[in-house]
Amino acid sequence: MAEQIDGNVLAAKSLAQFGVQHMFGVVGIPVTSLATRAVSLGIRFIAFHNEQSAGYAASAYGYLTSRPGVFLTVSGPGCVHGLAGLSNAGANTWPTVMISGSSNQNDVGRGDFQELDQIEAVKPFTKFAVKATHISQIPNCVAQVLDHAVSGRPGGCYLDLPTDVLHQKVSQSEAESLLIEAKALAEKNKKNNRANVEASKIEQAISLLRHAERPLIVFGKGAAYARAEDELKKLVEKTGIPFLPTPMGKGLLPDDHSLAASAARSLAIGKCDVAVVIGARLNWLLHFGEPPKWSKDVKFILVDVSSEEIELRKPFLGIVGDAKQVLEILNKEIKDDPFCLGSTHPWVDAISKKSKENASKMEAQLAKDVVPFNFLTPMRIIRDAILEFGGSPAPVVVSEGANTMDVGRAVLVQKEPRTRLDAGTWGTMGVGLGYCIAAAVAYPDRLVVAVEGDSGYGFSAMEVETLVRYQLPVVAIVFNNGGVYGGDRRSAEEINGPHKEDPAPTSFVPNAGYHTMMEAFGGKGYLVGTPDELKSALSESFFARKPAVINVVIDPYAGSESGRLQHKN
Ligand code: ADP
Ligand code: MG
Repeated sequence: MAEQIDGNVLAAKSLAQFGVQHMFGVVGIPVTSLATRAVSLGIRFIAFHNEQSAGYAASAYGYLTSRPGVFLTVSGPGCVHGLAGLSNAGANTWPTVMISGSSNQNDVGRGDFQELDQIEAVKPFTKFAVKATHISQIPNCVAQVLDHAVSGRPGGCYLDLPTDVLHQKVSQSEAESLLIEAKALAEKNKKNNRANVEASKIEQAISLLRHAERPLIVFGKGAAYARAEDELKKLVEKTGIPFLPTPMGKGLLPDDHSLAASAARSLAIGKCDVAVVIGARLNWLLHFGEPPKWSKDVKFILVDVSSEEIELRKPFLGIVGDAKQVLEILNKEIKDDPFCLGSTHPWVDAISKKSKENASKMEAQLAKDVVPFNFLTPMRIIRDAILEFGGSPAPVVVSEGANTMDVGRAVLVQKEPRTRLDAGTWGTMGVGLGYCIAAAVAYPDRLVVAVEGDSGYGFSAMEVETLVRYQLPVVAIVFNNGGVYGGDRRSAEEINGPHKEDPAPTSFVPNAGYHTMMEAFGGKGYLVGTPDELKSALSESFFARKPAVINVVIDPYAGSESGRLQHKN
């Protein structure tokens, strides 16, 4: 009899054929053999403790590489845990594919092992979901989910592989022809993100910018995903227009560029009259583009790959297209007739003055060595250590938490594109270690430095074992202030109320030994409470390029409730 292969092998072959190089996930029934087969075909499989973190990792991998990040889960509960990653991918518009095993199709409705209508469960969180109901459909289904994840506005997609399908068999030669057919079909159906950009819109955009008195260029993680850094640099330098990155847009142009308006953010967005917004949504992070933060007369030029986004925001001028492509055309059309504002232009001068003023106030705060640590002192030491460690390539910074993330965003300096990953559009806590693992895998030449609140860190802390297992160069710095926002800060009356023997909902065990947890797995742990201790832990761990946790003891009274979002809590 001709040699036969099963659905697991065919799925692994399909993933390899369509260019998947890394997969994240948790193995178990019925997908273990899919993972091991994928590994034997050259795909690197990073095995996690929890599908949630694996999903976060896959999504960040998608963002960092512009290729779909793929993660694998078991059926039922595995799929449900994975929804965290899938939904966060959708919120961030990052190309991500979740592949889950599912129950035998014949047993559906009878309470099979880990039974769940997974296609229905993923629906709210995916742009495309498909089930292979027969082994012959596997190659084509794999091609489709991978393509949907990256085409148009990127996002989460789902592939369902029932147990019976994974166990069905076809002959080797039939498998080969299924793979060839799927490849031909995929090439025929390949969607093109580089749509036709209307010339009149480009002209209009240039004219708006040329006649603006106080123009501003805003860019976000959509522009970072599009790898539009060279074109952005050209536009900014040609026109002399100040720019403002969103948190993950940081680094597309260096934070210390003379036209960076981050330190004068309120002035820049409050007073600009024309703002070109590229690959960033006018959502809560940008105050919906509305007063009082923005002027009521500001004219937005919105560049986004998604026509729905343009329809939703109704900007003065909307340009649907890939950020890199639109910027290329803009730069070309500006031609040799640039309208460079120059440093003496009143708007550029005002922003530059305000930036310098705010930066020097911040520096004065940062210069103090406050012990027990507040947030600023250790953040300055971390900033300086990262800068000293150097660029080319610069470390990737991962950050989550409330106060820790707010302070880190303002203080840490990004000079290279896609070197910052944070809680993102959804403000998701628990993404940290998954993102670290993704960054280390996607960018093997870069060090990864996580700056995390103890609460955010705790969501996925067990994944430090994964760091050690794969020997990833990740240094996780935990700002340990004993809780969410801080330690137990209740007044005497509050403590006298009901359940007075319980700690406050915001607090954790004080002085938790996070560094010893890392040591338990054979990684390096540091406990630090003074500037010298922190400096020495940073320089040792950065140069070692080995998994490490630095447990930084922070004054439990130093942070503010809810960080910057106090009005919402
Ligand atoms: P930020 O959080 O940095 O403000 P958002 O996630 O809010 O960024 O916005 C990113 C936007 O970028 C989304 O609306 C998405 O549709 C868009 N986008 C994604 N890929 C591209 C691309 N290649 N070109 C232009 N825009 C893109
Ligand atoms: Mg905390």
